[in-house]
Amino acid sequence: MEAASITKTEHGALQVPAHVIIPFIIGDGIGPDIWRASVRVFDAAVELAYGQARRIAWKEVLAGEKAYRETGEWLPQATLDTISKHLVAIKGPLTTPIGGGIRSLNVAIRAALDLYVCERPTRWFPGVPSPVKHPEYVDMVIFRENTEDIYTGIEFAAGSAEARKVGRFLQDEMEVDYAFTATTAIGIKTVSEEGSKRLVRAAIEHAIRQHRPSVALVHKGNIMKFTEGAFKNWGYEVAETEFADQTYTWAQWERTKAASGEASANAEQEKAVASGKVIIKDVIADNFLQQILLNPRDYSVIATLNLNGDYISDALAAIVGGIGIAPGANINYKTGHAVFEATHGTAPRFADTDSMNPSSVILSGVMMLEYMGWAEAATLIVNGLQEAILQKTVTVDFFNQMDGGKLLKTSAFGDEIIRHMNALI
Ligand code: NAD
Repeated sequence: MEAASITKTEHGALQVPAHVIIPFIIGDGIGPDIWRASVRVFDAAVELAYGQARRIAWKEVLAGEKAYRETGEWLPQATLDTISKHLVAIKGPLTTPIGGGIRSLNVAIRAALDLYVCERPTRWFPGVPSPVKHPEYVDMVIFRENTEDIYTGIEFAAGSAEARKVGRFLQDEMEVDYAFTATTAIGIKTVSEEGSKRLVRAAIEHAIRQHRPSVALVHKGNIMKFTEGAFKNWGYEVAETEFADQTYTWAQWERTKAASGEASANAEQEKAVASGKVIIKDVIADNFLQQILLNPRDYSVIATLNLNGDYISDALAAIVGGIGIAPGANINYKTGHAVFEATHGTAPRFADTDSMNPSSVILSGVMMLEYMGWAEAATLIVNGLQEAILQKTVTVDFFNQMDGGKLLKTSAFGDEIIRHMNALI
């Protein structure tokens, strides 16, 4: 069986060969430890699910410190070309080069392949230590816009000629009433209609596909009206113009309420009125951060801008066990390009200690297998991981918060997942 690339059919569906080439970036810091445990879990799951009928041929591509050591470049063009050719890849965390001319390798990869959705599912696995009483109430999927916002790094340093020039331009030519000083640094926030709409479109399509009850547009439009406020408006516009039969917006709810004389809404009433449609609602970002603790069951799919999404995903991850178990994917749903990755960083203090939790990369691999349509292998991994946690055989991050747990190394935790996958089948 010859190994081959994933391709896209002319109708837009992914075509995944039985012996598929998947490029991987091993990552810096704790990356190699975590990758070694994860890849064994992936291979065992695929073999257990499909025998010899399906297989992954892993193809290493270089980025980060390893790339710099071997090629003198942090992100070689060959790496981007290989990922582009094979459509789907998975990566470990990467160091942010200091003074290397690249602000962040992750941001550079997302920009190069125009991976406009950062998708981060957040759910609780029974047995995972949590700081809240009902972590099981959290079951959300974040769709974070990945290519725009203040995150693009258009910034001018305090005291620079550029910052002074931009400040003067804003005062003199744009009549901006603001007292720029010699030490004012300036950052630019960019939000476009097409960027917002493609992100919200992907979130709504996901909600419809996965039978999720709602999409919440999380924004700070009360203050930043033309960027975050416009994001909200464009989000509703997508729902009303492209998904009119499948969605129910808050504006429609308000009209129904007015017609029936109803005074207030709650999640149950909304659902009843929407009758099977996806409810599109919006919430201001600071309020949302308290709602995820107070009323998490009111939220399912979250569509939000880049910076909000960054904060929200870590806050939600903390509720369900921390960044050691938080998976993610960067996806362009049009081209099919997708790079799956843990949401945490390189935790350099723990490099080569074989001690950190590999679950983020393992669950990112689960997302990847689901994206490829290899759901059976994905389910095996989830069940094996769940069982390892229920048996309290865990890595240090969970062990420290558990009574009566057994402390495992990263590699041993991978073995434990494989053992449970075999036992459960
Ligand atoms: P970090 O996520 O690397 O680590 C913060 C802390 O989280 C660690 O000290 C550790 O206690 C805990 N942690 C992280 N991963 C864990 C795991 N798998 N299991 C258990 N605990 C875990 O954040 P940082 O220290 O702010 O960043 C270190 C480097 O990583 C920086 O260079 C940063 O730019 C980079 N970074 C990369 C990515 C990425 O590649 N996607 C994301 C964030 C940060």
